[in-house]
Amino acid sequence: MKKLVLLLLLITAPLAAGKLRVITTIFPVYDLSRQVGGGLCEVSMLIPPGTESHSYEPTPRQIAGLGKCDLLVYTNPYMEPWIEKAARGAGVEQGNVINSCKDIELLGGGDADDDHDHGGKDPHAWLDPVNAARMTANIAAAFERKDPANAEQYRRNAKAYIKAFHEFDALARGTISGFSKKKFFFAGHFAYGYFVKRYGLSYVSPFKGFSPDAEPTPKAVARMSDGIKKEGATVIYREELLSPRLADALAAQGDLTVLELSAAHNVTKKDLSGGVTLLSIFRRNLTNLERGLK
Ligand SMILES: [Zn+2]
Repeated sequence: MKKLVLLLLLITAPLAAGKLRVITTIFPVYDLSRQVGGGLCEVSMLIPPGTESHSYEPTPRQIAGLGKCDLLVYTNPYMEPWIEKAARGAGVEQGNVINSCKDIELLGGGDADDDHDHGGKDPHAWLDPVNAARMTANIAAAFERKDPANAEQYRRNAKAYIKAFHEFDALARGTISGFSKKKFFFAGHFAYGYFVKRYGLSYVSPFKGFSPDAEPTPKAVARMSDGIKKEGATVIYREELLSPRLADALAAQGDLTVLELSAAHNVTKKDLSGGVTLLSIFRRNLTNLERGLK
C-alpha cells in the first residue's frame, strides 16, 4: 500500500506542481514565452547560449526531451526548418507545436537586392517590435488554451509586454525621425529587413542572404568600404556573437567607431544570467543607432 501511494505521488507530482512545461527554440521566443509565463511556467531554451542560431539543430538527446513538454514554441519554419521533423520524432502533438509568427506575413527577398534573395523568406520577423507584440499574443493564446486555470494571468502578462513593445515602437519612430542619416553599415548578415521597413531606414551588408553561413567576398567588402566613404559614415555596426574581425578591419580603414547591433538571435551566457530581454536589446540597438545616425 505504502509503495502504491508513493508511486501515485511520483506520477502525479509534476502535475501537482501545476507548471506548464514550455520548450522554446531560440532567444526571442524564449524571452516572449517567459514574459507571458511569468513564473507560472517552466520555460527552457533549446539553443545553448552564445551559439549561432541559423545553423543550430537540436541534438538527438534534446529531440528525445521534447516529448516531455506541454508546448513547443518556435519562431517560424524559415528560422527552424527542422522543427516539424523533430517534433514528430519526439511524439509532440502538432497542436502543441506553436509557430509564433503564424499570422505574420514574412518578407521575401533581401534588402531590395536580387543578389540576396535565395528564394526563402526572411525569418527575422521579431526585430519589428509590432511583430514581437503579435508573437507575444500568439504565444499567450497557446498558453491560455493549454492551461485555462491561469489564462487570466497569461493574458495580463502578455498585455504588459505588448504594451511595452508598442511604447518602444513609438519611441523608435520619434527618435529615428530625427536622424540626419537614414542608412547604416552593418558587418553582419541580412537580419534587419523588418526593422528598416518599419522605420524607413536602409542598410548595407557585405553578406549574402539571411544567415551568416558564407563569408563575404573581398569584392563585397570593398564595395561596402566605398559606400562608407561616400556616405561619410562614422560608425560601423557589428553583429552579436560574430567575430568582430570584419567590422574592425572596415573601421580601421575609415577611422570608424564599432558599435554592436544585436538581432537577438541568441545571447551570451553572461547576458542571459544578467537578465537581458528582447526589449532591452531593442533599446540598446536604438541607442547605438542614434550614436551613428543622428
Ligand atoms: Zn539571422
